[in-house]
Amino acid sequence: MLVSLKEMLQEAEKNNFAIASINTPNQISLRAVIQAAEDTGMPVTINHAQTEQSVVPIDIAVPLMLDYAKKSTAAISVHVDHGYDFEHCMKAVRLGCTSIMYDCSRFPLEKNIEEVKRFVEIVKPLGIGVEAELGAMPNNMPSDVHGQETSDLSDLSVYYTDPDEAALFCERTGVDVLTTSFGTVHGMYAGEPNLDIERIRKIKSQAGQVHLGMHGGSGTPFDQIQQAIDAGIKKINYFTAIDTAPAPYLLKTIQESKNPVNFCNLANQAMEIIYQKTVEILTVFKNAGR
Ligand SMILES: [Zn+2]
Repeated sequence: MLVSLKEMLQEAEKNNFAIASINTPNQISLRAVIQAAEDTGMPVTINHAQTEQSVVPIDIAVPLMLDYAKKSTAAISVHVDHGYDFEHCMKAVRLGCTSIMYDCSRFPLEKNIEEVKRFVEIVKPLGIGVEAELGAMPNNMPSDVHGQETSDLSDLSVYYTDPDEAALFCERTGVDVLTTSFGTVHGMYAGEPNLDIERIRKIKSQAGQVHLGMHGGSGTPFDQIQQAIDAGIKKINYFTAIDTAPAPYLLKTIQESKNPVNFCNLANQAMEIIYQKTVEILTVFKNAGR
C-alpha cells in the first residue's frame, strides 16, 4: 500500500527503528526491494534520484514505482532522492511522489533555507513530505555521473552538520526530514567508518520535531548503524551495497556457463541477490536498540 514517509517516520520514532530508503532504478530492484519489505514486515521508501535520470527518466520510473507500491501488502512510500532543481521536484509533485528531497545543500546556509522554505510552503498543503540536507555528504562514488564526483575524504569533519545551524534551519523551513552529515560517505568508504554519534544526539535535542536522515549507509558497520538509529536517525539511505551485490555472482555464472547465457536468467539471479541483501539490511534497521 502507498503510505506517506511522514506516517512511516512517526511509527519509526515510536518504536525505535529506521526506514530504509532505497533507490529502485529498474524493475529488478523494484520487485526485489518490495518483496523484501513484504517478507520482513518493514516499511520501505523507494527512491528515484535525480542523478538517475540518465538510467531511467522520472516520468517512466515513478508511475511504475507507484503502481508496485499500491499493489504491495507492505507500507511503501515513493520518494525523490537528491532533487537538485526546483523544476525537477515540481515534476515529481505532479507525478504523485509522496515525499521529495529538495537538496540545496550546495548553497550557502541562507540560500539553502530560502529555497527549501519556498518549496515546503508549496507542497506541504498537498500532504507531500519534504527532506532537505544541511552540511554536505562527501562522495566516493564508483561512477562518473555529474554531481557524484569523488570528494576530498582526508577529513570528513569538514562536511559535518552543525547542530545550531540545524536548529535554525528546521525552525525556518518547516522541513519534515533533515539529512545530516556526521561521518558517512556516499558510495563506499575510503577508510574506516567512524560515525560521530554524539553529534546526532546534539542535533536531535536542538532541532525539535524534525526526523533525522542518514545517507551513505553502505559499508557502515551494522553496530554503528544501530547506534545511529538509537541516537535519533530514523531514515537511512542505503543503495550502493545493494546495487553492487549481484555483479560478482553474475560474472561467475557467465564465466562458468558452457552455453550462451540468457539475460532473463541473469536478471532473476540478480533479483534474488538484491532481495537477500535488502532483507539483511531491513533486519539491521528493525533491531536497533534491542
Ligand atoms: Zn544521498
